[in-house]
Amino acid sequence: MAAPASASPLQHDRFMTRSRRIASSLRDLRNAASQLPDAVVLLDQDQHVRWFNHAAEDLLGLRRPKDRGVVLQQRLATSDLSDWLRDGTREPLNDVAAPGHANSQLNVSMLPFGRRQQLLLARDISHLNRLEQVRRDFVANVSHELRTPLTVIHGYLELIDPEDVPELAPVLGEMRAQSKRMGQIVEDLLALSRLETQHQIVDERVPMAPLLATVRKEAEALSQGRHKITLESTAEADLLGSPKDLHSALSNLVSNAVRYTPTGGSITIRWQRTPDGAVYSVIDTGFGIPATHLARLTERFYRISSSRSRDSGGTGLGLSIVKHVLNLHQAQLRIESAPGAGSTFTCHFGHARLLPPDSGDES
Ligand code: ADP
Repeated sequence: MAAPASASPLQHDRFMTRSRRIASSLRDLRNAASQLPDAVVLLDQDQHVRWFNHAAEDLLGLRRPKDRGVVLQQRLATSDLSDWLRDGTREPLNDVAAPGHANSQLNVSMLPFGRRQQLLLARDISHLNRLEQVRRDFVANVSHELRTPLTVIHGYLELIDPEDVPELAPVLGEMRAQSKRMGQIVEDLLALSRLETQHQIVDERVPMAPLLATVRKEAEALSQGRHKITLESTAEADLLGSPKDLHSALSNLVSNAVRYTPTGGSITIRWQRTPDGAVYSVIDTGFGIPATHLARLTERFYRISSSRSRDSGGTGLGLSIVKHVLNLHQAQLRIESAPGAGSTFTCHFGHARLLPPDSGDES
């Protein structure tokens, strides 16, 4: 940058001091960005690499000076990032293998920057993944270790006849109920651990007519005549997936509807087609859920009222299991609810998960 020709010596000096200050600030900024632990790559509108920091060399495998000016998508063509870069998606990409660093996983995002430029940011999340793995293993191991002693305690409690020790009958009843509850929590934790570590399922036909009939029977058994239970099945479709896991998810929703709907309320189980596939809904006229809780309901042990959940036999893990099962089937859970007005839990299944109902001809 040159000072204007007409400038006086004083103006010229001031101009030069300012220019030096700006240049020094720019250098500082660039040095700071160079040292960031996250990879930063500055791209022009055609995805040519304009600048990158040291972490980008390490994590993305870029080399200077030869990679300045290359098209990033072509440079990383053999990596898992290639499709994402080509599609120009704005959604961050999670858990992708680092092209420059074996055994590391990245979280990558693209931010619009300046005039049609873009900033690619990549963060090494390997240590987070390792911690997550430690957490998962810990929960699975503890649950597994608790299973046997609990079974033994429960077994002995069942052996004692309350009539032999009438003074302890209420205590015995409570002990049995609590040991059963603990057993259920352990079983749910083990189911969750299995679902979390599973990345795909063995697809099988899941005939919906018998499954819906079973789910309805379970609801009636749990309700003991306290609710009006209706089944509306018009989808004429079976599902493709894991029969055991889908049964667990679909019946969890029905069990919640029964447990969180006061006596006299009604529950509708619906299986119907939509333009995007088919939906399984459970609609109740129960207590409902305030909007502030909706986003967190599928977290483990998240409850609106612990006492209501406990008293109705809940473990606080049901919706978490539902979410994991649906994820494995590329399906989504949507919840609509308002306090006092009841709730609707809907599972959305895409066309790829639907099969025409079994005619029974196959042998
Ligand atoms: P829980 O075993 O406690 O029922 P879930 O994971 O199945 O655990 O559900 C989490 C929480 O969501 C419940 O504790 C309850 O507060 C709320 N909830 C779930 N289903 C319903 C429903 N149909 N109506 C009202 N609240 C519900």
